[in-house]
Amino acid sequence: MAEPSVTPQSPPSRRSVESTAFRSALEVIRGVEPRVADAIAAEVADQREMLKLIASENYASPAVLLAMGNWFSDKYAEGTVGRRFYAGCRNVDTVESLAAEHARTVFGAAHAYVQPHSGIDANLVAFWAVLSQRVERPALEKAGARQVNDLSEEDWAALRADFGNQRMLGMSLDAGGHLTHGFRPNISGKMFEQRSYGTEPTTGLVDYDALRAAAREFRPLILVAGYSAYPRLVNFRIMREIADEVGATLMVDMAHFAGLVAGKVLTGDFDPVPHANIVTTTTHKSLRGPRGGMVLCDDSLAEHVDRGCPMVLGGPLPHVMAAKAVALAEAGRPEFGTYAHAVVDNARSLAEGLLRRGAKLVTGGTDNHLALIDVSSYGLTGRQAEAALLDAGIVTNRNSVPQDPNGAWYTSGIRIGTPALTTRGLGAPEMDEIAGLIDTVLTAATPAAAAKGGTSKANYVLDPAVAEQVAARSSDLLAGFPLYPGIDLS
Ligand SMILES: *Cc1c(COP(=O)(O)O)cnc(C)c1O
Repeated sequence: MAEPSVTPQSPPSRRSVESTAFRSALEVIRGVEPRVADAIAAEVADQREMLKLIASENYASPAVLLAMGNWFSDKYAEGTVGRRFYAGCRNVDTVESLAAEHARTVFGAAHAYVQPHSGIDANLVAFWAVLSQRVERPALEKAGARQVNDLSEEDWAALRADFGNQRMLGMSLDAGGHLTHGFRPNISGKMFEQRSYGTEPTTGLVDYDALRAAAREFRPLILVAGYSAYPRLVNFRIMREIADEVGATLMVDMAHFAGLVAGKVLTGDFDPVPHANIVTTTTHKSLRGPRGGMVLCDDSLAEHVDRGCPMVLGGPLPHVMAAKAVALAEAGRPEFGTYAHAVVDNARSLAEGLLRRGAKLVTGGTDNHLALIDVSSYGLTGRQAEAALLDAGIVTNRNSVPQDPNGAWYTSGIRIGTPALTTRGLGAPEMDEIAGLIDTVLTAATPAAAAKGGTSKANYVLDPAVAEQVAARSSDLLAGFPLYPGIDLS
């Protein structure tokens, strides 16, 4: 059977008060712009009906959602706790302190900065904190200046050039890395000279020896670890050894797997916090908080990280920091550990179910919350597979596989993850059944010709009867695990 209920599957005693809160909120909004109220109600209806396997999504609790919709949204609070550029920030100080305190406790971090508005912003804060510590600080010391405004035009020009001459080594996109780890379309690739490390072609695993050799040769300022689509664990102790050996700062972007760290699934060598110099994350993926970002670091980087505003951020979002405090309080509870372990158990069941039915998975399985199906064995591109699954009510996203012959747009992979369905309460037997539904759709779908003849990487044919039958089964399955039970907006 499924795990005992976890938020947002609140206990019955909470349900009517939650229902009243959301109904009242919609009524107020409906009085001004009914179409927005309708869209909100339609969104929760969609979320309830969809079999959500998007690895980066989740369902936040009613408490997290409600903490975001209030008067904190009106407040400017540039600066840090107790040192603001605006008056009247005592309540913002309270929620920002609470969020940081919970973050330090949950992750065992020396310092937490909870202002970043998103994961990408958290990464920008981290990059510039490292540049501040390792490039700007020595330049200021050399010039005998206290801050950048005191530098001569000449020294300032030299420092600006120096910022642009730094190196970053990060995981390649097709091995599961993220755009913000130095790829040219993203600002990180424009700021840094970037080189990437991939995975070993036969196993699909990170090759630490090759990585060490690349780091020795390239000598990056920043070594970035972390991923969006790598289905295995990363050994952060080894990563730190490599970083230390070449004089790099180790930055771990745990955007995807922060919930597994908070829930103590990833411990020892696999917990990034004790090993990295600086850790960034989103708060809305496996961590199950509001959309947002966060930076954790050691004491030596704290003062640099705290200058995220004005470095790359404007005013913080106090309403989102309030919701981060609530989510991190939830993540510190024993139930969250149960949840995080169930996420990984469910991913394993889903992967095993797919393998048993003959699907091909990158690395042959999973150790975390996600798996990557190589859909070329079904004769499909990622784009065709994604669309066919959606026709059957299964929401996923296409993703490159290592050395993907179809590139980053069409791709050959489908990424699936279990954080959302686990929040809903689904367990191992349901995962096995879902593996069967996925396999049924991918087996039935076939590529179709392009309008002007030849083959298309986008077009496909799926027998509507199959789509209907799978959608009906998935809907039955979800009906046994109601999302936000008790919240009735009709
Ligand atoms: C999702 C993700 C981000 C970006 O987060 P946003 O909140 O969408 O900006 C950054 N890094 C990694 C590894 C991610 O998976």
